[in-house]
Amino acid sequence: MKTIYAVYGDPVEHSLSPVMHNAAFAKLGMDCEYHKFRVSKSDLGDAITGAKAMGFGGLNLTIPLKETALGFVDPDPLCDAIGAVNTIEFRHDKVIGHNTDGIGAMNALTLEGCVIPNSRILILGAGGAARAVAFQLAEHKAYVTIANRTVERAIALTENVSRVGEACAAGLEDIAGLVAESDIVINTTSVGMYPDINNTLVTADMMHQGQVVFDLVYNPLETMFLKEANKANAITIDGVMMLTLQGAESFRIWTGIKPPVDVMEQAVRDGLNK
Ligand code: NAP
Repeated sequence: MKTIYAVYGDPVEHSLSPVMHNAAFAKLGMDCEYHKFRVSKSDLGDAITGAKAMGFGGLNLTIPLKETALGFVDPDPLCDAIGAVNTIEFRHDKVIGHNTDGIGAMNALTLEGCVIPNSRILILGAGGAARAVAFQLAEHKAYVTIANRTVERAIALTENVSRVGEACAAGLEDIAGLVAESDIVINTTSVGMYPDINNTLVTADMMHQGQVVFDLVYNPLETMFLKEANKANAITIDGVMMLTLQGAESFRIWTGIKPPVDVMEQAVRDGLNK
């Protein structure tokens, strides 16, 4: 009998997780199927219990369910620290919560040849995505600076992240100075995301050759931030890599199998181009 996996969200129609995971299952010849279900916050507990009762292989969660889900799982330590769940594993009688967003971002950097320990990493933004990325990178001994438009949010996140590693907070006033002294610059804000496609917080004159510039935004694929980075001869990474690699980590957690990342990445790129 087929094993069923799913993503829950509200809205969830846009999710590329089904095409990404189904491409991996097909490539590996696994008798599994991945679906998307619209689930409201108030129904989340029942929907998780139902999936477990029906023998689902695992779940992903997207907006707005990631924080609410903490009340229905045993979170692993990283997921607990981040305060959000994006992957649920059903193991024996347990419902375990994981967060693979930060691992996805870190693996996107290491695939590009970045060495995380001792790197000076500037994270632009202090929202949900920034939280997962900052915890992961600080825990892996990077020197993290979190710069946000609302500096109080950067300070609050820095205080939390400082429990696991080195982090400091800033506003965006001296963004040029912060970028200049960083090895890696990561945009975790929604600036540059469709329809705001002509905007970027950082321009080419602030960046330098060899610097790694990573945008979590994947719509459009080449954001203004990455276009500016290319002008400065920086090394660029787009948001598809994080999307793919967080999914690959979920797949590994559920199945114990290392999935075909290239197949998953292509499925996401094809899905975005439709
Ligand atoms: P979020 O929690 O709403 O956080 C948004 C962040 O953007 C906040 O730090 C906010 O600053 C900042 N921001 C928004 N407009 C701004 C502006 N005009 N100028 C400066 N800063 C601005 O959102 P999120 O969930 O973290 O997602 C952020 C982006 O990451 C989205 O584009 C999302 O699609 C992308 N993402 C990608 C992946 C992936 O797998 N590639 C995964 C997760 C998220 P304030 O605090 O000052 O409001």
